[in-house]
Amino acid sequence: MKRHLTLLVLLAITISCKAQHEITEIETQYEHDLTSRPKLVVGIVVDQMRYDYLTRFYNRFREGGFKRMINEGFNCKNNHFNYIPTKTGPGHASVYTGTTPKYHGIIANDWYDKDAKQMVYCAGDDSVESVGTISSSGKMSPQRMLTTSFADENRLFTQMRGKTIGISMKDRGAILPAGHTANGAYWFHGKNEGKWISSTFYMNDLPQWVKDFNNSNVAQSYFKVWNTLYDINTYVESGSDLNNFEGGFKGKETATFPYDLAALKDSNGGFDILKATAYGNDLTTDFALAAIDGEQLGKDNITDVLALSYSSTDYVGHNFGVNSKEVQDTYLRLDKDLERLFNHLDATVGKGEYTVFLTADHGAVDVPSYLQSVKIPAGYLNNSKTKADFNEFMTATFGASDLVENVSNDQIFLNREKLKTLDLDLDDVQEAIVDELITYENVYKVYSSKTMSTMSFDSGVEQLLQKGYNQRRSGDILVVPNPAHISYSKTGSTHGSGLNYDTHVPLLFFGKGIKHGETFQKTVIPDIAPTISAFLGISFPNGATGQPLGFVLD
Ligand SMILES: [Zn+2]
Repeated sequence: MKRHLTLLVLLAITISCKAQHEITEIETQYEHDLTSRPKLVVGIVVDQMRYDYLTRFYNRFREGGFKRMINEGFNCKNNHFNYIPTKTGPGHASVYTGTTPKYHGIIANDWYDKDAKQMVYCAGDDSVESVGTISSSGKMSPQRMLTTSFADENRLFTQMRGKTIGISMKDRGAILPAGHTANGAYWFHGKNEGKWISSTFYMNDLPQWVKDFNNSNVAQSYFKVWNTLYDINTYVESGSDLNNFEGGFKGKETATFPYDLAALKDSNGGFDILKATAYGNDLTTDFALAAIDGEQLGKDNITDVLALSYSSTDYVGHNFGVNSKEVQDTYLRLDKDLERLFNHLDATVGKGEYTVFLTADHGAVDVPSYLQSVKIPAGYLNNSKTKADFNEFMTATFGASDLVENVSNDQIFLNREKLKTLDLDLDDVQEAIVDELITYENVYKVYSSKTMSTMSFDSGVEQLLQKGYNQRRSGDILVVPNPAHISYSKTGSTHGSGLNYDTHVPLLFFGKGIKHGETFQKTVIPDIAPTISAFLGISFPNGATGQPLGFVLD
């Protein structure tokens, strides 16, 4: 009896070994079939990077960063956002979903939710909890993004074998690109913690490599003096360091180098000050390298996706403006970070085994007060006057001042219930408001939601608005300010328009499967995801409206 049992056990082991062997063989074959694909796709979004930063600072770049992408890869020199508003949340969603707010639904960073009757945040999610912080800044997920990203499609295609990791100092810069099926998205919680965090949407506990990184003193080590990388007198590609157009930090009289971050941190949000300096990008790169190693990205033939977004360029741009020495230094240092990243990928994944694209989520306008000083039409919107005049008009015309429920993102949301109780026709009210607002100072264009949802525009600012207009989520009236006019302080700058300073951004491809070349042919942001999808042979993101750029592929 005992002998029989032993025989049976032996037989069972042999059969299971054989089955295991066959499965391994099939898996090896599966992996082999994928060798034409890159082991890793790295998407890099540089927050607020205008196209002309590539050309303006070109001679100052090293060989291994931006220049390497241009010299080895493909440069789409006439690449634009094709919708309004050009902002971070919509930008990141559009790059990875291959479509515009009309379809992916991320119509702004924060917007007025008509159903909930309150402002909502593009990556906010009260149904999940923070992971890695005692604060609530981890209550985030991509739930408001209505369509898939190419990273999602790669996960579906590979039966969830290909990994996706999203990294950015800004939560939305990590979460929206990584999509709905990501293994993890990580963002930086500053304040007095200085930790990379996540949410229960992805995991219940941070992986050991993230804990190790957080327990190291890497973030702390950047509380040092921020001075220019090279002699500031050689920074002839930007304006003088001392001028009237820059914000600066609390506790320092002038917005001029050097900045002693250890001394300034307490009055500028603790670890948050790092976000607003070039060192934020260094720290992001440090963390990205730890992720590549910790997650073993690109270690087999099943394509992984690393969605990396550099946020500090945006904070520095907002604070100091397009023409500042601070912006120039931030880009020269980012160039070094890119070199470090590519060198690490060469060493761990292998030269020619990974594919990279680099773009931005929007550009930015020069500081309007600076433009005015050189006689270019520019300026600031007088919101309080507009509001007072508009309220007066509403009361005089409709006998009610509370017909407006919310004004945000250059849109007016009407109180539909109130219109009904007053027996007012929505179309008539919209039309009257359009006629009124177009007479206001610095208003360039005004459209109603009726026009957006019933007409079809194939060019111009009307088309840009329409591609950014989501019928369920957008407002009743859409206002477009004059060129180079913003609602902002007189120092620093912002973005959001459909004009070239906000829409024209870099698009560089490089690495496996990418041709060497350049084009002035117009490309648009939603073309990126279909291009990567076509290259990988996977389904396009489900709402994609862009076209694959076949000419960049080998
Ligand atoms: Zn911004």
